[in-house]
Amino acid sequence: MLPCLTHHHHLETLFPVLCWQYLSQPQRAGVHAPNVHGHVLFPLIRMLHYRTVPVTPFSQNASLVWCDQTRQAAVIDPGGDVDRLQAEATRLGVSLEQIWLTHAHIDHAGGAAELARRLSLPIIGPHMGDQFWIDGLPQQSTMFGFPHADAFKPTRWLNDGDTVTVGHSTLQVRHCPGHTPGHVVFYSKEAKRAFVGDVLFAGSIGRTDFPQGDHATLIDSIKTRLWPMGDDTVFIPGHGPESTFGEERKYNPYVKD
Ligand SMILES: [Zn+2]
Ligand SMILES: [Zn+2]
Repeated sequence: MLPCLTHHHHLETLFPVLCWQYLSQPQRAGVHAPNVHGHVLFPLIRMLHYRTVPVTPFSQNASLVWCDQTRQAAVIDPGGDVDRLQAEATRLGVSLEQIWLTHAHIDHAGGAAELARRLSLPIIGPHMGDQFWIDGLPQQSTMFGFPHADAFKPTRWLNDGDTVTVGHSTLQVRHCPGHTPGHVVFYSKEAKRAFVGDVLFAGSIGRTDFPQGDHATLIDSIKTRLWPMGDDTVFIPGHGPESTFGEERKYNPYVKD
């Protein structure tokens, strides 16, 4: 069952715990079409494509991103439901070759070790500030009623200013701490898309009441690292519908100008 983001009470019931700083406000006009039902293909410019697949009981937006010339793909935040993610890659005719992580909360990283093991994939990211969250994945899975998740050792930690590449597409990495200390986002300048995990949502921001979370740091990450990507950049949050940075600068009560 996939939640509909227009039904706020439904959401509150389902996602009170890990990632939302829930804000009750009317759905705004002008926001990009929600992707929450997850079955819409988003063709971008020639090279980078993506498809968002909500996974786990938290409907976390895992995204398959791929280069349409080579059909090589990466999956961003495979929090769980790895059978489904593999089936989706097969259906799309892409070859899943990398795992990219924004941060190490269970709904984002819970399927990483399993998927890496099955397909011998490298795990890239997050920033090493999230080491303690990775080490705590087994406990996180118990606490939130997820299938058991193993800790893992990332093949490569990410730092601010790094890049990641899939096929002929390169995305920039920005370190955006605040929700977790090691949170990163992936930005495609060519496609004007940013995969921001739980840093920013349409109308809200990530929770900061976890160990090493910090509200002021999160706001600073959003304003100094996301806003420069441009008002017309569409972001894919870890939960809920897409929006643009310009829209959030106008209407998001936590970060509006
Ligand atoms: Zn999340
Ligand atoms: Zn999170």
